[in-house]
Amino acid sequence: MQIKFWGVRGSIPSPGPNTVRYGGNTTCIEIRAGDELIILDGGTGIFPLSQTLFPELPRHIHIFITHSHWDHIQGLPFFVPIFIPGNDIHLYGASDPVTQQGVEHLYDVQLQYSYFPIREAELNANMHYQSLFPGEVVQVGDVTITCVLMNHPVTNLGYRVEYQGKSMFFTGDHEPPYNLCKPGEEDWDVYEDLIQQKTQDMDTIMQNVDVLIADASYTTDEYGQKQGWGHGTYDTCIAMAKRVGAKQLYCTHHEPMRSDDMLEKVFEEAVARCSLDMDFGVQLAKEGLTIQV
Ligand SMILES: [Zn+2]
Ligand SMILES: [Zn+2]
Repeated sequence: MQIKFWGVRGSIPSPGPNTVRYGGNTTCIEIRAGDELIILDGGTGIFPLSQTLFPELPRHIHIFITHSHWDHIQGLPFFVPIFIPGNDIHLYGASDPVTQQGVEHLYDVQLQYSYFPIREAELNANMHYQSLFPGEVVQVGDVTITCVLMNHPVTNLGYRVEYQGKSMFFTGDHEPPYNLCKPGEEDWDVYEDLIQQKTQDMDTIMQNVDVLIADASYTTDEYGQKQGWGHGTYDTCIAMAKRVGAKQLYCTHHEPMRSDDMLEKVFEEAVARCSLDMDFGVQLAKEGLTIQV
C-alpha cells in the first residue's frame, strides 16, 4: 500500500512563501493498493492529484469523505475525472446530519449555478454515491475500508484502510471527547461513561495500525482557547497513537497561519515533551510526502 499527501492544511488553503515546505492545500490523501485508487477527502489537494491521473483514465476512483466542512470538499468540483466520459467515480461519506440527505448532497450543493458553471446532472463520468453509517465496512476489490464516528461539530467519519495485512487510519477532523460538565455536577458520570464508550469504539478501529494520520491542529496552549472547535493537539495525537499501538504517526491539518518554521518549532516542542516512553515514529505530514506500507 502506498499513501501520498496532497493536502495537509486545515480550514483554508494557505499558499505563499511561508508554507512552501509543508504545502498550502487543504486535506487530500491518495492511497494506491494493488490496482485500486482510493482518495481520502476532497480538499484543494485533490486538484493537483487529478492532474496526474490522465495517463490511467478512464478508471474507477473511490473517494471517501470524512465530513462536509469546506476544507475537506472544496476541491471536489475541480476533480477533473468527473468531467471525462468512461470514468466511474464512487463517492462515499456520511449523510447530512441536518437534512438527512445522502452523500450526493455534497455535489448537489456545490454544483449549483450560482457557484459553479456545471451542474451535477451534466457531469460526464458515471457517478456513484454511497452514504455510510458508522461501523460500516466497504470492500473495494481486495481493500477493506471501515469507518467509525469521530468527535467533531458535524458527523465526521474516520477511515481504516486495510490491504494485504497492512493498514492505515485517517481521523479526518477530531477532538478527543471531553466532559461538558464540571466534576460534581449531576451529569458528570453520564458523560464520563459516554466518553469512555466513544473512545473505546474509536480505539478499536485504530488498533495496531501501521500508519495513523491524525488531526493535530493546535498546541496544548492554543487548545485552551479552542476547546469545542473539533480539533486535536500534537500531545493528544501522540497519546492516541500510543494507546492504540500505532507504528507510525503523521500529524496533519496544520493551522493555515502556521509558517513552516513555526510548525517545526511547535512540533519539536511537543515531541520533546512526550518522547520519554514513545516506541513509534512521529512526523509532520507534508504535501508530496509518500509512504510505503
Ligand atoms: Zn478540517
Ligand atoms: Zn471540520
